Amino acid sequence: MGRSNHSQVIIIGGGPAGSAAAILLAQAGIKVLLFDKDKHPRYHVGESGILSLPFLLQLLGVEDRLVNLGVKRKGGVFFDWNERWLINWGATGDYTYHVERSEFDHLLLKRAQECGAQVFEEHKVKEILFEGERPVGVKVENSKKEKDYFCDYLIDASGRSALLARQYFKCQKPLKAFQNTALWGYWLKANAPSTLAGFEDVDGYSDEIENPITISAIPNGWIWGIPLHNKTLSVGVVLSQKYYDSVKKEMSKSEIYSRAILESEAMKDLLEPACLVSPLRMTADWSYVTEKWAGPGYFIVGDAAVFIDPLLSTGMTSAMLSSVTCAACIKEIYNKKIAPEKIFQFYGTDYRRRFWRLSFVIGALYAAKGHPSDLFYKTHCLTSKDLEGAAYDDIKRSFSSVISGLEDLKEVTASELQKIAGDRLRSSFKEYINIVPKMPYLPRNDLELIFEPLGLEDAARFAEK
Ligand SMILES: Cc1cc2nc3c(=O)[nH]c(=O)nc-3n(C[C@H](O)[C@H](O)[C@H](O)COP(=O)(O)OP(=O)(O)OC[C@H]3O[C@@H](n4cnc5c(N)ncnc54)[C@H](O)[C@@H]3O)c2cc1C
Repeated sequence: MGRSNHSQVIIIGGGPAGSAAAILLAQAGIKVLLFDKDKHPRYHVGESGILSLPFLLQLLGVEDRLVNLGVKRKGGVFFDWNERWLINWGATGDYTYHVERSEFDHLLLKRAQECGAQVFEEHKVKEILFEGERPVGVKVENSKKEKDYFCDYLIDASGRSALLARQYFKCQKPLKAFQNTALWGYWLKANAPSTLAGFEDVDGYSDEIENPITISAIPNGWIWGIPLHNKTLSVGVVLSQKYYDSVKKEMSKSEIYSRAILESEAMKDLLEPACLVSPLRMTADWSYVTEKWAGPGYFIVGDAAVFIDPLLSTGMTSAMLSSVTCAACIKEIYNKKIAPEKIFQFYGTDYRRRFWRLSFVIGALYAAKGHPSDLFYKTHCLTSKDLEGAAYDDIKRSFSSVISGLEDLKEVTASELQKIAGDRLRSSFKEYINIVPKMPYLPRNDLELIFEPLGLEDAARFAEK
């Protein structure tokens, strides 16, 4: 304030989280600067969306542009997980997208610029500047020159660099259950799941299912198969770190990758006529959660706040939803109707709740033995729906609603937060009892005030459709 190079908001990172926040804040007339260390378009992993994605894309004004790129619609999930079963969103006409992240992230960044955010590519944030405990700006490097920029609010959207949580606040906690290594590559001429023998008999089948992602369990992890509009199938193998460490001395990366694929009957069949047309990529795939979400001078969004195993393809969409809530919160801070402390508390509470529920569902999938109905039932317990008399279709619908992100959209407006009490979490997930956080929910009025300006009531209606 009163400094040169001062803006209301500075955003570190131009991935989906950073751009989504920049779009909404700039549209609200807030002065925003966004710095990304890379030049876009740039490669990024994480290509498959969930059902709440189209709603967010509409809110950000980019769905039509994405469709014009020719991206593939995704109508569900084909689980080859003990048994074969489908979550089929196509049956109710719902869909989401698989995207190539280089063009998706670029599209969002250009939209942020168009809305009035000042975007600086190839500008790396070298340091976060503090006054006491409050972040007040950043030191940025471009072409070997450094410059300081100051702001009222800093949004950390730096992805897995997690600048604030890891490097400054040192409040990032690993989730020990999900410490994995991921290896992936791109295949041409792969079969579609619909060509697999007996696919019509799979639970949840209808011929409307469009381009489902394939998720296949193997002894030491799982595999994804994502059909992209460039005609490749993105095939990633996620292996427990323990297993990976035990074999990496005797086997090359490509041998580990191929052996994992051969352990999955479904993936073997999908790739039978296909050839790998890219180098293999690899990353440590370790889940974590921040203990600080927002406070005086800052908000943490997307992977900079939490990373959860990509089993349910939730990362990019959840990152964008966190930025939607963050933008709503910052707008409300400037509106001065709600005390900032309450807004910080709301942001952290809402985000934490979404993160933990998803972690439980993914944990349950990892542990799932036997019929998926057990998994559906556990997920049903994590929603606010009645337990008594729930039929198989009801509990399967609850699973679909949680993994599609629609339950999250519904709850951010519907103060159903209070009903999802800790007791129910505890009774269903005794094994996780020690990590269930306390969830002090806020009263409904605060939620309405915060979300009304962004039109999230529409999200709730959409979710209830
Ligand atoms: C193996 C794997 C598979 C995945 N599969 C899926 C999937 O199928 N579906 C899905 O939805 N998600 C998936 N994800 C998760 C997904 O990739 C992330 O959740 C998503 O990219 C998060 O978006 P973000 O904007 O928070 O971070 P990012 O997309 O990582 O963006 C962060 C940005 O910050 C910039 N940055 C970092 N440090 C600095 C700095 N110091 N200065 C300036 N800029 C900086 C980076 O250049 C980058 O552009 C997967 C992740 C992994 C690891």
